Amino acid sequence: MKIETAKHSGFCFGVKRAIQIANETAQNNKKTITLGPIIHNPQMVEFLRKKGIHSIDDINDISDETIIIRSHGITAENYKLLLEKDLNIVDATCPFVKKAQEFAQKLTRDGYQLYILGEKNHPEVEALLSYIDDSAVVVTNPDNPFPKPTKGKVALIAQTTQSEEKFERLAKKLISLCEELHVVKTICNATILRQESTRNLAQKVDIMIVIGGKNSANTTRLAEIASAEGCRTFHIETGDELKIAWFENVDNVGITAGASTPNWIINSVKEKIKKINETK
Ligand code: SF4
Repeated sequence: MKIETAKHSGFCFGVKRAIQIANETAQNNKKTITLGPIIHNPQMVEFLRKKGIHSIDDINDISDETIIIRSHGITAENYKLLLEKDLNIVDATCPFVKKAQEFAQKLTRDGYQLYILGEKNHPEVEALLSYIDDSAVVVTNPDNPFPKPTKGKVALIAQTTQSEEKFERLAKKLISLCEELHVVKTICNATILRQESTRNLAQKVDIMIVIGGKNSANTTRLAEIASAEGCRTFHIETGDELKIAWFENVDNVGITAGASTPNWIINSVKEKIKKINETK
C-alpha cells in the first residue's frame, strides 16, 4: 500500500506564528491564557495547556493574567473589554485575518454593502462583523438562497479559510444583483495551496485521510474537497480513529492535514497506517 502526503498540509504561517508567540509569552509570564482555543486543534490546545497556556471561554473569568489573542482574532467588543481590564495583551491574530478586517472596514466606510463568504458563528467571521455595520450579509453556501443586496454598491470578501470555488460562484451570483461589485479575495494563500494539493491527491488515490480538529473550518473544507472528487474520505483528529476496514482493497492512501494540525499528529497517523498495512 502506497501512502502519499499532500504537497501542502499541516501548520500554516499564521498558526506557527501564534504558537511561537504563545510559547514565548508563557516563558516570561506566570499565567498565560487565550480567549477561546488559540487554534482549532484540541490535541494541540491540550499540549499547550500542559505547558501553562490555558484557554478560557468567558471574558469575565479573566482577571490579572497575560492574554493572548488567538490567530482568528477577537471581536471589537471583546478587545475593548480586555483594554478596560488593563491586561497585558499579546496579539497573535494572523496578519491575513487582520488584513481581511481592514478590508471589511474600508469597504464599509466607502459605502459598499459587504457580503462575506463564511460561517456566521466562526470566531473569525464574528470578529469581522464586529468591525462593520449591520448591513453586512454572511453567505455560507452560495447555492442556497441568501438575502439580496439593499445597496447598489456591493463588496465581497471571504473568511480566510473558505473555498476559492465557492467564492467565485458567489461573485458570479452577486454581479447580476447589483450595479457595482468590488471583490477582494481574502482567502489566504496557505488555504489555497492546501485545498489545491488535497484536490490533486484525491484524484489519484483510493482513500483520503484528512487529519485535523473536527472544529477546524479549514480541515473540514479539505475533507469536503476530497469527497467532492469522489474519493472515499475520512476526517480524523488522531490515529486512534483509524479503522482497519477502511484499508481493505486499498492500494493508494492519500493524507492531508489542516493548517492547525501539528506534525507530530500527522506523523503518528502515518505510522499507524504503516502498521495497519503490515497486518494486511
Ligand atoms: S489559515 Fe491563513 S489566515 Fe488562517 S492562520 Fe493560517 S495563514 Fe493565517
